[in-house]
Amino acid sequence: MNVLVINCGSSSLKYQLIDMSNEEVKAKGLVERIGIEGSRIKHETIGKEKETIETPMKDHKIALELVMDSLTNEDYGAIKSLDEISAVGHRVVHGGEDFAQSVIIDDKVLKAIEDNVEIAPLHNPPNIMGIKACQKLLPNVKQVAVFDTAFHQTMPAESYIYALPYEYYEKYRIRRYGFHGTSHKYITNRAAEMLGKDVNEVNLITCHLGNGSSICAVENGKSIDTSMGFTPLEGLAMGTRCGDLDPAILPFLMEKENLSPDEINNVINKKSGVLRISGVSSDFRDIEAARDEGNERAALALNIFEKRVRGYIGNYFTELDHVDGIVFTAGVGENSIEMRESICAGLKSLGIEIDKERNNVRGEDKLISSDNSKVKVFVIPTNEELMIARDTKELVEA
Ligand code: ADP
Repeated sequence: MNVLVINCGSSSLKYQLIDMSNEEVKAKGLVERIGIEGSRIKHETIGKEKETIETPMKDHKIALELVMDSLTNEDYGAIKSLDEISAVGHRVVHGGEDFAQSVIIDDKVLKAIEDNVEIAPLHNPPNIMGIKACQKLLPNVKQVAVFDTAFHQTMPAESYIYALPYEYYEKYRIRRYGFHGTSHKYITNRAAEMLGKDVNEVNLITCHLGNGSSICAVENGKSIDTSMGFTPLEGLAMGTRCGDLDPAILPFLMEKENLSPDEINNVINKKSGVLRISGVSSDFRDIEAARDEGNERAALALNIFEKRVRGYIGNYFTELDHVDGIVFTAGVGENSIEMRESICAGLKSLGIEIDKERNNVRGEDKLISSDNSKVKVFVIPTNEELMIARDTKELVEA
């Protein structure tokens, strides 16, 4: 069974065709600059030459038509015809309170995703465009929605209710939802395997540290708290997002700098984080290099990032009655040896100790804590596409 996994952003689209008989990727690609000048598709069928095609793509439907053409291309494609696609799994950012699990998409589900646009105006519209385009291009193929928020729907109210007037939760559904759920779920399952435990018996603190970052407290395999909130802005300092701050700063800045709600939103989403603390880059490789050359603001940005990661880990230790493992994943978590070392160096009071040699690893599943460490620490590369494909297969076969 081949599952096509689709992840639509506002101007980009990532895809993978996964053979579920062995969970191997057959083809993958990226469409960039949809709706803007210079649109292109980069396609790769595993074992064949990569292809890049530059051609105007005015919307997601045209982009998906090109994806289908690439997948079935005689020279560089992976399948002979679209009939070889058994199901499509879509990443959908915001499922609100409607979805605690992945679902097969029908009219009712699509309507519920559309109803959530109000609380996810940046993310859900491109996801909806992707679903509608696939429905047109593959009318007889089942489509599944896999939500970034679903894994966190097990959080108790004390984790998700903000200390605002309660009626704002009732009126506007303002609450913590949490994101990166597909990633936290994937690494939770994998960590349970590596610990040799049933996933329903495992307590973890999972750290997804990338451009966007979030941490999750997992009790008996379920999310009970996470650092992202109503939007993916809360919590850690990120590439360009501010994370936690005193909310009073926002009206103050709006007045001083004469900013509209849209403008201040742009500042805290795109012009903050380690990018604007360091003044160097949003890319952690660049910031680490600048710090090593003596750039003090780059060092400050990294120190702030690490301090917040430790803060959340410490916080979640108090929510769990024991912790079986701490897991690092995503671009920074999987690859930055130094970052993992310095985060863990500050966790000695919790009995956590990294083994330098074991920590000398990038992008592979590995135990990195020392034998003396009271808590096991792992690196586990995330695989959101595979998680989406697994959920899709399970639902379609059921
Ligand atoms: P997203 O999916 O949120 O866009 P990723 O999980 O791909 O992000 O993470 C991207 C981040 O990972 C970038 O900031 C990049 O600098 C960082 N990263 C990748 N490799 C390394 C490395 N070797 N050392 C430090 N940071 C790295």
